[in-house]
Amino acid sequence: MKNLFCLLALISIHITFAQNLLSEKPAFTRQDTLRGSITPEREWWDLTYYHLDIKVDPDDKFISGKNTIQYKVLKNQSVMQIDLQPPMKLSKAVQNGKELEIKNDGNAHFIKLSENQEIGEVKSLEVFYEGHPKEAIRAPWDGGISWKKDANGNHFIASSCQGLGASVWWPCKDHMYDEVDSMLISVNVPSKLLDVSNGRLRKVEQIGDTKTYSWFVGNPINNYGVNINIGNYVHFSEVYEGMAGNLDMDYYVLKDNLEKAKKHFKDAPKMMKAFEYWFGQYPFYKDGYKLVEVPYLGMEHQSSVTYGNQFKNGYLGNDLSGTGWGLKFDFIIIHESGHEWFANNITTKDVADMWVHEGFTAYSENLFLDYYYGKEASAEYVIGTRRNIENERPVISYYDVNSAGPIDMYYKASNMLHTLRQLIEDDEKWRKILRKINVTFYHQTVNSKQIEDFLSNETGIDLTEFFNQYLRTTKIPTLEYEINKRELKYRWTNIVDKFDMPIQININEKEQWLFPKAEWKTLMLDDKINSFNVDADFYVYTKKI
Ligand SMILES: [Zn+2]
Repeated sequence: MKNLFCLLALISIHITFAQNLLSEKPAFTRQDTLRGSITPEREWWDLTYYHLDIKVDPDDKFISGKNTIQYKVLKNQSVMQIDLQPPMKLSKAVQNGKELEIKNDGNAHFIKLSENQEIGEVKSLEVFYEGHPKEAIRAPWDGGISWKKDANGNHFIASSCQGLGASVWWPCKDHMYDEVDSMLISVNVPSKLLDVSNGRLRKVEQIGDTKTYSWFVGNPINNYGVNINIGNYVHFSEVYEGMAGNLDMDYYVLKDNLEKAKKHFKDAPKMMKAFEYWFGQYPFYKDGYKLVEVPYLGMEHQSSVTYGNQFKNGYLGNDLSGTGWGLKFDFIIIHESGHEWFANNITTKDVADMWVHEGFTAYSENLFLDYYYGKEASAEYVIGTRRNIENERPVISYYDVNSAGPIDMYYKASNMLHTLRQLIEDDEKWRKILRKINVTFYHQTVNSKQIEDFLSNETGIDLTEFFNQYLRTTKIPTLEYEINKRELKYRWTNIVDKFDMPIQININEKEQWLFPKAEWKTLMLDDKINSFNVDADFYVYTKKI
């Protein structure tokens, strides 16, 4: 996700409207800075391992337990920032049996370490916590924990915390720049329920009338990707013969939905085939791939993609493109799984650059169509999704304050990438670039500029102004033109300085490239110009004068 349609779309319009009225940067708080920046209390240590060990009490809607945090010392410092949002309480922090002093500042907790922290040393501490976590109001957009019941009255519980932050339900270093290298997630639940988290199930222990499920993630994982899903699940699976060998694909759904899911989840191996073709190998073979039913729409939880699209094609049965092509696939299976490459494999350090997650993933929807229905179908789809673009504020948001981009990080960014595909004019080269990006930044956290520079280098086109135009302004390049008998006059307007993207046109039934600039240029034809149009694959406006 995070899919902001419906309610959030409306909210974002209102926020943008208010911002435009003030025409200044929105007011961010000290808490936004503590959450969104790499503070000195975060910078000095590198996360290596978490063991989140918790008990979930569904009747009381209560979570308690501890997180063991292992880290490598990078700098001389002795105060560590750990995030946990009230009403959850960080009750105790312990290093080598010694209880440590904690200073609370809203969602941030500053732990004073008493031991020497030698550079290069790997150390660990345990933080204990408990409470009634924020209940999700409208998961996954306004997330937290969803405490629901299935049709048979069984508890059906799931976490979702993108944007809000993982610290809404467990204590962690809640910033995207530093992913933990591996993680063990142990979740104790009443015996008749089953917990599905990320990675592979390592063991199940019966403890009285409860069971503890321990899941191990062997790859780096971002905080919001960590999840618990608790229900009366049944399981089925298949082995997919993929690019890097056999991949376990496991499916967990409510008992009543088993037959439906067995048919409908056929989109999952289809997705894997199309995306391995376009993006290269699935990035988490070690952890397998799972699709897990949840009581909300869905989320890209790493190696346990969550699903609540009602076993329908489209987005809850709707086609976001309005072309019909969006009903050829289950939006949640395709979109959320696309995030395994863009969001989970390649993660942005700052959510201001979240277009790298959502833009490429929205773009993946049309590549899925391209693989099964051809280039024309995929182009119709991505062009169709332009109706969701608002152009109210730039795609890239404010840095260091946990401020994600607007809805345009989805379909404006995907249309920018579709436009880039036209500029490259070589689909095989484009596919190689998309594969290489997943190798170059494999399991890394990045910023937008790194991705932009990579694309400039790989395409051999200086895309500096192209990205500045589409990501950092709300201006859509407008081709102004004038036709006078045999003469076409044209220029770019509404552009950033030095923007000079070439564009394909059809003139008198013939395709050709134009190279407009901010200044007027002239094209003289042998015959009178009878027809003229700009290739719709380019996300630009035209204006005849
Ligand atoms: Zn998404």
